[in-house]
Amino acid sequence: NTQDIKILLLENVNVAAREILESQGYQVEFHKASLPEDELIEKIRDVHVIGIRSKTKLSEKVLREAKNLLVIGCFCIGTNQVDLEFAAKHGVTVFNSPFSNSRSVAELVIAEIIVLARQLGDRSNEMHNGTWNKVSNKCWEIRGKTLGIIGYGHIGSQLSVLSEAMGMKVIYYDVVPLMALGSAKQVPTLKDLLKQADFVTLHVPELPETKNLIGAEQLSYMKNGSYLINASRGSVVDIPALVEAMRSGHIAGAALDVYPSEPAANGDYFNSTLNTWGDDLRSLKNLILSPHIGGSTEEAQSAIGVEVGEALVRYINDGSTIGAVNMPEVSLRGLTLAEENHVRVIFIHSNRPGVLRQVNSILGDHNVDKQMSDSRGDVAYLMADISDVNAGDIKSLYENLESLSSKIMTRVLY
Ligand code: NAD
Repeated sequence: NTQDIKILLLENVNVAAREILESQGYQVEFHKASLPEDELIEKIRDVHVIGIRSKTKLSEKVLREAKNLLVIGCFCIGTNQVDLEFAAKHGVTVFNSPFSNSRSVAELVIAEIIVLARQLGDRSNEMHNGTWNKVSNKCWEIRGKTLGIIGYGHIGSQLSVLSEAMGMKVIYYDVVPLMALGSAKQVPTLKDLLKQADFVTLHVPELPETKNLIGAEQLSYMKNGSYLINASRGSVVDIPALVEAMRSGHIAGAALDVYPSEPAANGDYFNSTLNTWGDDLRSLKNLILSPHIGGSTEEAQSAIGVEVGEALVRYINDGSTIGAVNMPEVSLRGLTLAEENHVRVIFIHSNRPGVLRQVNSILGDHNVDKQMSDSRGDVAYLMADISDVNAGDIKSLYENLESLSSKIMTRVLY
């Protein structure tokens, strides 16, 4: 019953999400901020769904208390704040929003390419300080210059199209072979890219392999007078090495939107004890510093609200896991719950031999119209649509599945 579904939304998730969830008749409790851990534990015991952004830590300790939880919506890109494995092993599916803000990041990078090429940040700073300093020395058009994109995923590929439209030549490096858009060309090695590009921009995920992907050695391969842009993750660039390369003049400019350590709230940053390189960065010319705003647009925020809000509704009402980050992706078309005696069974279970035989012997008494099952690591997700289940059968179906030792979670939708 949709009215029984209790949802806790924290961290001021976008109003678009709230509207989608409320329109389903769910009970939605909304908080502007995240909650301290003890309050979070208190509240999470009661709810079926929690919506968070990056500041709410859903650790094993917190999730252990979440006895009624079905699903977590991360209204952001990252999911590091959630113990995904613990959640999966307890049947709790996690959704995020992988590309609602890709366009916003790509547009920011386009702006930065031109701002760096024209030293626009410095000119503007000088004017703010009352100085007129008209120069053309080492200021360039971007037409005909080569943009090197590292990581040709959602953002990198979008940027590829936009920058070609402005007359740039695009090369990219990725760990997997990917179809080139427009006239872009994939290069075989990172070194090839660094040696050829006038502008290098990073769009890789945060991984052990991408930590300090750009350090002193990589900077040395870059062309003299080239530019570096990082709007991916702060761990990807070795900041002291970049400071050195900029001081020497080898790198003519850079834009950083992300940092190895970032504060939890707005306020003092470079004055705090969060970092040792803040003063170095502030002293450099033609360096654009922005506070992780790549995806911070009104459009991206509401797109995230819609994308995750709709994924939650689909999961609650239909059990579809398409787009989930910690569960196998399972869905069946043509849900027919409105028809008499039709039910959908969802059985999340440990992935071990013999389970499907047991499940099918329980479902086998009925007319199974459709069935799909898939696994991801230790967890498997089975969905079956059954068309001859009367009200009295629902309870025994549920209880028989619940009694299997492999059971993680059973849901019967009707
Ligand atoms: P994506 O997953 O769509 O694409 C990442 C690409 O990087 C993939 O094609 C992958 O194969 C490639 N890759 C992985 N490891 C690599 C390596 N070692 N070398 C080269 N390529 C590698 O990701 P996306 O949505 O395009 O996002 C890219 C980055 O941007 C992520 O780190 C994300 O967190 C960050 N991001 C930042 C902001 C912001 O506000 N600044 C906003 C959104 C996303």
